[in-house]
Amino acid sequence: MKACAAIGWSGTLGNCFPFFKFPSANMLKQAQASGTTTAPGTMAAKSQVAVIGAGAFGGWTALYLLRRGARVTLLDAWGPGNSRASSGGETRVIRGTYGPNQPYTQMAARATQLWKENQQRWNLKLMHQTGVLWMVASADDHFERGSLAMLREAGIAYQELSRQDLATRWPQINLEGLHWGIYEPEGGYLMARNACQAVLDGFLREGGEYRQLAVMPNNLDHGPWDSLTLSDGSKLRADLYIFACGPWLGKLFPETIGNRIRPTRQEVFFFGTPVGDDRFSDAKLPVWADHRDKFMYGIPGNQGRGFKIADDTRGPEFDPTSGERSVSAQGLRSVRDYIAFRFPALKDAPLVESRVCQYENSPDNNFIIDRHPTQQNVWLLGGGSGHGFKHGPALGEMVAGLVMEGKDPEPLFRLGRFGN
Ligand SMILES: Cc1cc2nc3c(=O)[nH]c(=O)nc-3n(C[C@H](O)[C@H](O)[C@H](O)COP(=O)(O)OP(=O)(O)OC[C@H]3O[C@@H](n4cnc5c(N)ncnc54)[C@H](O)[C@@H]3O)c2cc1C
Repeated sequence: MKACAAIGWSGTLGNCFPFFKFPSANMLKQAQASGTTTAPGTMAAKSQVAVIGAGAFGGWTALYLLRRGARVTLLDAWGPGNSRASSGGETRVIRGTYGPNQPYTQMAARATQLWKENQQRWNLKLMHQTGVLWMVASADDHFERGSLAMLREAGIAYQELSRQDLATRWPQINLEGLHWGIYEPEGGYLMARNACQAVLDGFLREGGEYRQLAVMPNNLDHGPWDSLTLSDGSKLRADLYIFACGPWLGKLFPETIGNRIRPTRQEVFFFGTPVGDDRFSDAKLPVWADHRDKFMYGIPGNQGRGFKIADDTRGPEFDPTSGERSVSAQGLRSVRDYIAFRFPALKDAPLVESRVCQYENSPDNNFIIDRHPTQQNVWLLGGGSGHGFKHGPALGEMVAGLVMEGKDPEPLFRLGRFGN
């Protein structure tokens, strides 16, 4: 399966999971209605839940569990959206273009609603709906054609744009090699680390407990599961434990997860735009993705940090704890060449900031949402595979529903799909 993560992916998911299709926008209702079995042991409200990891997956899950009545303690080794976390950095793309036969367009639609609801509740601006432009440069546009029906079904607004439309609307883009485009006017970008902090702040205001401590990796594959040992030597006891440790999940559960989550090194560049020229600001240019021999994508804006651009191709394996985070000369050269080609007015733009982050890839780029195979009171969440951030609230809502009601996740997300 060819992967395209931060922006979507061009995999033939339908081939792997031809049966899998979410019919409605509410993931929680879908999970309940789609033939999932009820596990014994529905969680009582006021059960004590420990969520480990305050990134996009853990933070939102903790918040929605709290809203469902659980008592929740959230832990993080270094804090929400820290510089090592996959949810760190300035911004993330939110869009529904995801190819045919997959659940993520519906999930993105639900997530968009929940981002709106929560930012309104908190009186914060976390989602910038500056639009997303998906540029089709590949002769094979099966992925994009297949996306259109999914967008329609999910109720996500989109426009199909011809080359001429593109030329009229965004003359600052060199259209060479482009065939057509999908524009999602309600897509855009999300604040990343700020949103993780906002989720934690909301969680605390609503009565959650947070501790900035690490869970020690003491034989977590096998337990015993009476308590967790924390980095300050204390113990944490809960009725249920949810591990949302992003790229660290494989290390914490070497047997259960191991290399089913493979962190890869990803470089992100921010270029300075010319003074007095707003053609590359988020007021004039949407978030964009360029589907060609490789996926390039970018986010104008970023709170003044510059014109963000990154190559979605998976980098080498990376250690999220000890990995050095300076970008490579080769990576910089390659994005400069690209920028000079696609955005010629920025060809001499200076690099003003850069980051190294990691994707936490599952083998098929689908999320992992499942109970531990032998411990019914332990859940594992991860495998965002470079496209998880936007889905945080929808995933949190769905997981809280599954956990509190003792339901099983969809087969697409279960560990069983990998075999033994
Ligand atoms: C460069 C880049 C670009 C991306 N672009 C997009 C995009 O445009 N759109 C999109 O939707 N997604 C995007 N993604 C993917 C998305 O950001 C991730 O899938 C998502 O943030 C993963 O969240 P997470 O909560 O699973 O992991 P993390 O954010 O890594 O959170 C895990 C947390 O667990 C904590 N932790 C780890 N071990 C322990 C322990 N033992 N005890 C306590 N705490 C622990 C860590 O400190 C961390 O905070 C991108 C990712 C990268 C790297």
